[in-house]
Amino acid sequence: MAYERELDVAIQAVRKACRLCSGVQYSLLHDDTTSKDDRSPVTVADLGSQAVITSELLRSFPEDSIVSEEDANVLRDNEYIARRVLGLVNEQIGGMAASQLLEALDYGARTTYRTIRFWTVDPIDGTKGFLRGEQYAIALALVEGGKVVLGVLGCPNLPWTDGGSEENRGGVYFAVKGQGAFVQTMDQSVERSISVDSLALSAEARFCESVEEGHVSHENHARISSILGITTPPYRIDSQCKYAVVARGDASIYPRLSSTKDYRDAIWDHAAGSIIVMEAGGQVTDSRGEPLDFAAGRRLANNSGIVATNGKLHQQVIAAIAQAV
Ligand code: AMP
Ligand code: MG
Repeated sequence: MAYERELDVAIQAVRKACRLCSGVQYSLLHDDTTSKDDRSPVTVADLGSQAVITSELLRSFPEDSIVSEEDANVLRDNEYIARRVLGLVNEQIGGMAASQLLEALDYGARTTYRTIRFWTVDPIDGTKGFLRGEQYAIALALVEGGKVVLGVLGCPNLPWTDGGSEENRGGVYFAVKGQGAFVQTMDQSVERSISVDSLALSAEARFCESVEEGHVSHENHARISSILGITTPPYRIDSQCKYAVVARGDASIYPRLSSTKDYRDAIWDHAAGSIIVMEAGGQVTDSRGEPLDFAAGRRLANNSGIVATNGKLHQQVIAAIAQAV
């Protein structure tokens, strides 16, 4: 099978990063979190997760490029965080020196390659959800020629089934182009294929959206859902877990219209999730119905807004967006 080795390495890297993040989510200290230049939060877990994934990828694919969200600057400025991240990383992979940690974190920080093969990493997507003790995801994808060919999403807190028990939670969602979409439990004891729902009547659809009003316009989303005749309240959940929820058929529509004018989404926020939804039988485009172009740099510079659906409802949602905004 194509990309068999890449998939194996990616899943193992994401599982280690999930272990690191789950291990600290409920015991983070005040000093374990700081703010980046854009005032968004970053924690020792975001940095540790990125270092683990980078180092695991480069061990198997030393020639590959990586485009990742974080860099080592926080560690250079903050000795406590540097020590803490090194400790967390070495619990997962062992043997990393402080200088290697800085190198690993900077490896993918400034890469902007457009067309060649590269990996893209969001070490914790939904850091705000992570800090609230709620949902977050670890996202890793492989891009070739501007198209995502493989995606892995670690969702450590997502209940195994919709509304399922908190004890039975956590999964690694993954897809390879042309090979379908799957989920496995964190311990890999159970694996199953997943698919989107088959709803064709928009009024019956369940709609999922970000929790954070500062990220997306709940008001615009409400307008779209009203045009579609949807009356059930939106399912609000942080991070790319929304893609997992659509891919397994627990929601039919995930719109993402930014609250910030001219916002361009980061590639690592959508690469893994989008291929998982498409391989589960759904559709993902920008808000005008154009395909996502992952060859335009670190941001989806040629796209505006994102829409993921079960496929059957896609054109209706695109039309509703055109009418609403
Ligand atoms: P979510 O958990 O769905 O709210 O998405 C989290 C992601 O939203 C983060 O990884 C950010 O990259 C992204 N984000 C931050 N600011 C904005 C914004 N103004 N519009 C859209 N997305 C944003
Ligand atoms: Mg993110």
